[in-house]
Amino acid sequence: MKKANLLTLLIILGMLLGVLYGQFMLYDAESLIDSMHWTKAAGDLVLIRPLKLLVIPLIFFSVVVGITRIGDPSKLGKLGLATLAYYFGTMLIAVIIGTTLVTIIQPGDLPAEVQAQVAAAGETSFDSDTVLKGKVEGQSMGGAWNNILKQVIPSNIVTEMAAPRPLGLIVFAMVLGLALAAGGERTKPARDFFDAMFEGLMIMIQWVIWLTPLGVFFLLAWTVGKIGLAELIGPLGSYMGVVFVGLLFHMVVVLPLILWLLGGVNPYAFMAKMKPALLTAFGTDSSSATLPVTMETAELEAGCSKRASNFVLPLGSTINMDGTALYEAVAVVFLFQLYGIDLSMSQLIIVVITATLAAVGAAGIPSAGLVTMVIVISAVNGSLEGTGLMLPVAAIGVILGVDRILDMCRTTVNVWGDAVGARIMTRLAPDDPQEVAD
Ligand code: ASP
Repeated sequence: MKKANLLTLLIILGMLLGVLYGQFMLYDAESLIDSMHWTKAAGDLVLIRPLKLLVIPLIFFSVVVGITRIGDPSKLGKLGLATLAYYFGTMLIAVIIGTTLVTIIQPGDLPAEVQAQVAAAGETSFDSDTVLKGKVEGQSMGGAWNNILKQVIPSNIVTEMAAPRPLGLIVFAMVLGLALAAGGERTKPARDFFDAMFEGLMIMIQWVIWLTPLGVFFLLAWTVGKIGLAELIGPLGSYMGVVFVGLLFHMVVVLPLILWLLGGVNPYAFMAKMKPALLTAFGTDSSSATLPVTMETAELEAGCSKRASNFVLPLGSTINMDGTALYEAVAVVFLFQLYGIDLSMSQLIIVVITATLAAVGAAGIPSAGLVTMVIVISAVNGSLEGTGLMLPVAAIGVILGVDRILDMCRTTVNVWGDAVGARIMTRLAPDDPQEVAD
């Protein structure tokens, strides 16, 4: 059996066993949290921490190497512009799909007693989770822009690495790469150093990837043990259904169509090759933690050029989030519906724009989208001023309980969007045949 097939098989096995074990514990345990907590800790140690450890060095070296390999500045300009157009174009499409679906299906139009129940749950559970850990910055449009610009132009690269805030790190790495490319013979030793370090990191990644099946087992056991499959048919089922359908449509129809049109390859064959990355995204909830696997699979299995993937994938893992954008739009409109507030066309346009921005601002880590959703809610509330209507931000508590499973799905779409981008940009930035042969 080919190594990649064996890995995929083991990951699927890990997922199935994890779900079974989690569901079993859900029925079995009295003090569920205690009995399941070790699975979360084990998953963290086995998979999440090793992957996270590699992410910052990987982003740094891969972007520098990506830029120096591209070399010719005119090519870089074209690639940069095309990549940004791809990111924003696909995120906008995703957000429009989400907004349209949630407006037509109206999952928040629930019977009065259910509405009261979820509203009460929102008030009581909101404080307890991620949202209030002081991560919410820039709750207005201006604040959001300011926040993003400050990340793009950092004042201290070490604090950006430690935070971690990858956007500033990427910008720094891009400029350094340009400088090393422009330096010609004088900077050649530095280019060789970066090349060799990058190769070393890729070898470390190959080692870590074999831990994925075990990590996915622990993490899924924890999720299912905590939420339970029964939640799927609860009052939030239709909201989840809309997010699922939107994500699925974007993943299996929209992005494949774009890949087929612009990349000229069979999108489903490409999807099959990217399976290890997609499954890792599903299991880890994190585009950034998945990045090592995405890069490895895209280059070695799925025919993406090193030049394109070294540039498109690290950047995409932090700013290109189709799944998050779609989910934020659905979630916010759903919450407004739940509270009986009908949004007008212009308010829906505000949702479309701010959800895209909030997805760009979200880091590639678990629950990031949930946090930046506050930007979207505040923007819509701003447009409701004077009407006496307003959605309390605490309403987010309603959807906290089911967020993990949606996070898994949207992260998969985020990573798929990055991979499609890398495959399309391979046309624009193919590898030097000489280099590939080496
Ligand atoms: N977990 C997502 C990701 O890493 C971000 C989000 O919360 O939507 O791509």
